[in-house]
Amino acid sequence: MPVKTLPKSVSVLMPLALPAPYDYEVPDGLIAEPGAYVIVPLGAQQILGVVWGEGTGEVDPKRLKPILEVLDVPPMPGVLRRFVDWLAAYTLNPRGSVLRLAIRAPGALEPQRMRTAYRLVDKRPARMTPARQRVVDTAMDQFARTTRELAEEAGVSDGVVRGLVDAGALVPVDLPTEAPFPVPDIGAVSKSLSPEQLVAAETLRKRVDENRFAAILLDGVTGSGKTEVYFEAVAEALAQGRQVLILLPEIALTSQFLDRFEGRFHCRPAEWHSELSSRERTRVWRGVAEGRARVVVGARSALFLPFPELGLIVVDEEHEAAFKQEEGVTYHARDMAVVRASLGQFPIILSSATPSLESSVNAEQGRYERIVLPERHGVAELPSITAIDMRAEPPERGRWLAPLLVNEIANALAAGEQAMLFLNRRGYAPLTLCRTCGHRIECPQCSSWLVEHRFRRELVCHHCGYSAPVPKACPSCGAEDSLIACGPGVERIAEEVAERFPEARLAVLSSDNLRGPQSHEEMFRAIEAREVDIIVGTQIVAKGHHFPWLTVVGVVDADLGLENGDLRAAERTFQLLQQVAGRAGRAERPGRVFLQTYMPEHAVMRALVAGKRDAFLRREAEARERVGLPPFGRLVGIVVSSENAALAQKFAREMARHAPRAEDVSVLGPAPAPLALLRGRTRLRFLVKATRNVNIQAYMQAWLGEMKVPAAIRVSVDIDPYSF
Ligand code: ADP
Ligand code: ZN
Repeated sequence: MPVKTLPKSVSVLMPLALPAPYDYEVPDGLIAEPGAYVIVPLGAQQILGVVWGEGTGEVDPKRLKPILEVLDVPPMPGVLRRFVDWLAAYTLNPRGSVLRLAIRAPGALEPQRMRTAYRLVDKRPARMTPARQRVVDTAMDQFARTTRELAEEAGVSDGVVRGLVDAGALVPVDLPTEAPFPVPDIGAVSKSLSPEQLVAAETLRKRVDENRFAAILLDGVTGSGKTEVYFEAVAEALAQGRQVLILLPEIALTSQFLDRFEGRFHCRPAEWHSELSSRERTRVWRGVAEGRARVVVGARSALFLPFPELGLIVVDEEHEAAFKQEEGVTYHARDMAVVRASLGQFPIILSSATPSLESSVNAEQGRYERIVLPERHGVAELPSITAIDMRAEPPERGRWLAPLLVNEIANALAAGEQAMLFLNRRGYAPLTLCRTCGHRIECPQCSSWLVEHRFRRELVCHHCGYSAPVPKACPSCGAEDSLIACGPGVERIAEEVAERFPEARLAVLSSDNLRGPQSHEEMFRAIEAREVDIIVGTQIVAKGHHFPWLTVVGVVDADLGLENGDLRAAERTFQLLQQVAGRAGRAERPGRVFLQTYMPEHAVMRALVAGKRDAFLRREAEARERVGLPPFGRLVGIVVSSENAALAQKFAREMARHAPRAEDVSVLGPAPAPLALLRGRTRLRFLVKATRNVNIQAYMQAWLGEMKVPAAIRVSVDIDPYSF
């Protein structure tokens, strides 16, 4: 009797908003191991997917559709597949949506393009001519070159080279079209570490050697050499044959970082961020998957690259809000990096001069190991920080800089040093007001004021990008010449600086006048080369940069971040101002930092001036613990939005009625979300607060499972919202 074998089946996850993989049949002759990239039919389409595991057996074997093709790419590593599953479950996203983050490299899965190059095999071809001889001489070194390259180097026409190919003197070889990845030179240590740095580096090296999960908070003041120290851990991981991922919060920081990496390792690492060309994305994705790229420096999405041998992650400036992905699948890249390290059983280093409250608490409670670098490297000292009480020292009318600060800038310039003014506000003025009727010009689609950008002569919404020319008359009462610009943005500060210091060379750094990493790079180089005297900038200048000639830093409005009701505001403002302050006095010359404030008695200002970071963080932590907020409790943000305001209200109320009752869980809201109107959508927010023992995902699923969301409503769920 013939034995009928069931078709072998596997489950395939597709990068679509699907919660689970689908079963497919593996036809004879195909091998589809777990992680293999495959093409499968879905309805009338053919779709790329990843083999997730054995078939579930839920589909009648006779009705299974076959896998059409298995792609010639290294399979997705098991750790990355488990990471996708974990992240999907934690953030309550369909697994397919998370998978999409891991295969976002157009072309990477297509067969690699080859170019044909030629190598010399016959030094004395028949019918030798002087032109042919030149080609032979050129090709004598046995390097493979294209016909074009050979013709150019030999100074002959392409036809001469093709003639030699036809004569069999040159034979084709296939070369990848992509540039190769250089190998880091781990032997080269150019700097000798200080005793404290050595101890720190030794500990990190040991953790890498131990080859198991460990989270280490590298907590060192700005300029203490954290980068130099963790480079030693990177070298160790590379020596062990592992790949390394370094996460940076912003693309703007990449170029200076790459230079430093090159200084230490004599090669540039692979980069991964949204500004890469698709060709470069393909190259890096493949290089990582095939293990040719040993080190990747990237933004948060680099977490989803298919490293087969990842052995160390470094999260630089771990406190940065930019690590939180706020759209689509929302996740915190620092936290998810810890998860990835834990799944992969290797160490992770979180580096910061102003650790997040979360990481500080984790270190205090022993979940993370803390390594402290308390002093700046070499002779550099931490800058002195002074609060300027703007109530006592008001600037002149229409000016924004206090006399004391202006004086300090003048002194710095006279000494041949640089000064920097920081204001975290793009544009010229944050508000345009009518003197006649009091009307404030708002964005038509958002609950926010339009910001005047004088260089562009436009009013711009910083939330949705809406823009309009600056009107001549008040749009409300029609009064002419009645609109006035209220408050300063960086452009206005630049204007004041230019008036006060007409001789000084001024650089304005804000995302409006810097497009792409290239122009950042040029600006930063110019500053380092002392082609600039005064820098006026938004948060772009706050972070990471090393400007040896910068001694005076003025914060134009130190209170800015404290105004909104966000419970993280104090922590955030402290971190930002500490980072800005850290730009001053990084070399031989001592730095002086001035905070213009109307609240010098505020805990943030007092802690900055007194240099009492740890006491400040402890008080913040105690305050959060009292009310059960993260990291002491769990928090979920839910935003209900619709273009139809009444519908949004109604649905939010209905959701509130369906909220399950559970011990240790409280539901706050619905209340207007922080941006109650955004891009024309009315937004209402719930905050779900729970103790740490609660399975908040299960709670959320129970709740959302009850709700039928109408098409005109969007409900977005944010586990661990950054702002609360
Ligand atoms: P951090 O990352 O803590 O702000 P960096 O690693 O950027 O500190 O170091 C600050 C500056 O001091 C850099 O220019 C760095 O090259 C230099 N530096 C740090 N440690 C050493 C060392 N051991 N020898 C020479 N230069 C060092
Ligand atoms: Zn808007």
